[in-house]
Amino acid sequence: MQIKGIPVGQLGTNCYIVTDETCGKCAVIDPGDESGLILDYLEANHLSCEVIMLTHGHHDHWLGLDGVREGTGAPAYINKKDAFLKTGPAKPMKFPADEDIRYYAEGDTIQVGSLSFSVLETPGHSSGSVCLVCENAIFSGDTLFRDSCGRTDFEDGDMNAMLRSLLRLDSLQGDYEVYPGHMEYTSLDRERAYNYYITYAKNALGKA
Ligand SMILES: [Zn+2]
Repeated sequence: MQIKGIPVGQLGTNCYIVTDETCGKCAVIDPGDESGLILDYLEANHLSCEVIMLTHGHHDHWLGLDGVREGTGAPAYINKKDAFLKTGPAKPMKFPADEDIRYYAEGDTIQVGSLSFSVLETPGHSSGSVCLVCENAIFSGDTLFRDSCGRTDFEDGDMNAMLRSLLRLDSLQGDYEVYPGHMEYTSLDRERAYNYYITYAKNALGKA
């Protein structure tokens, strides 16, 4: 597994290209903007994008989606709780889905070459936020950050749900590399030791 992070857009969202280097098939996670940059990387490295996955519905994670879809023909997935059909009434902070969008949910797995991505629903930053787990890596979206966690003051944010989601990540067995939606990469063990919100979640939910 090879992981390339490309910061895109005004908020420096981390777009990740995750490749099975034995076959050149890859997944694009959170094409937050600047689809040209993403497509250039795919082309320069002769990669075949098999699937696009969104960690949640906020626009800074999907502004580049249409460009990457057009350039690759790959299907795109999001959790239904963070989307609305764009033929219906608009919903702020949600992803405007067309008929081609696919939905994934807790327990689903997405296969890319020999790589298998498991979907963990981790609400809190938004109701449909997910983390994607592949081998020893967690793509944590705006749920878990280095030293922090995602905001919960948006429309369908929920601090209690966030604390439960952080505890759930904490309860995974062993260490993982953590690739968040913004800012620096980290590891789960580092966050177990230093992340105030994980510590707070353990205390608040009585599992310290
Ligand atoms: Zn967000």
